[in-house]
Amino acid sequence: MEGAGVLVHRPFPSHTHALSSFDPFLLLDEMGPMDVAPNSAKGFPDHPHRGFETITYMLSGRFEHRDSHGHAGKIEPGDVQWMTAGAGLVHSENPEAEFLRTGGHMHGFQIWVNLPKRDKMIAPRYQEVPKARIPEASSADGKVHVRVIAGEALGARAVIDTRIPIQYLHFTLAPGAGVEQAVPKSANALAYVFQGSGVFGGKRVEAHNMVTFARDADAVRLEAASDSAEPVQVLLLSGEPIGEPVARYGPFVMNTREEVQQAVEDYQSGKMGRIGN
Ligand code: FE
Repeated sequence: MEGAGVLVHRPFPSHTHALSSFDPFLLLDEMGPMDVAPNSAKGFPDHPHRGFETITYMLSGRFEHRDSHGHAGKIEPGDVQWMTAGAGLVHSENPEAEFLRTGGHMHGFQIWVNLPKRDKMIAPRYQEVPKARIPEASSADGKVHVRVIAGEALGARAVIDTRIPIQYLHFTLAPGAGVEQAVPKSANALAYVFQGSGVFGGKRVEAHNMVTFARDADAVRLEAASDSAEPVQVLLLSGEPIGEPVARYGPFVMNTREEVQQAVEDYQSGKMGRIGN
């Protein structure tokens, strides 16, 4: 459970698997899937961020967010919020009022992407893309579908731009289907299966498991088991490794301990602002 009480599957950072990050990715959270009763949905009350980006992608359920610079909005099913925290802000991510009242199915993702040193102190930026503006494409036989949040797949190109080269692709494969996805040789790539049974390098991978690719080619292959009980849904993430020192303390990710200490001081002294100011 994370925040005020949100069920999270978190392949990393993980102590048990000794995977603290997967450069440039710092965290991968699958929120839910869970059914929440009326008036019981939970969220993430006021907290700061500095030095990286948080990307929220909802599949069902609705969040609303608000930050210390007066920015606010809603994230509905299929929407993406790509937030570049940069120099810092304080925000809250809570169930949207109507969703809180009615309850319902909640499922989504939040990933954290590191920023290179040159970008850690840039002004915060939001790219908020509603479902209708997320490019989608399908294979000629209709067995593979992709939603392109970042990067390019099956001829569709993302509308979101990233500070370093990132691919964020949501594939849905019919049982028995497969797809080759181009990934730069220099990038780190992972797949996270969240529905059905996938096959990677001949090994079966069930939902809520992550695969990292050993890179020696300029493409990776995703496959759905032919006997998968459901269509296979997979997030494919890739990113150019930043290769800089990582000093991490909760919501602050900098290059040195001194910079993290400065972030804590700036937050405590109100320099990142407060919600409602
Ligand atoms: Fe946050």
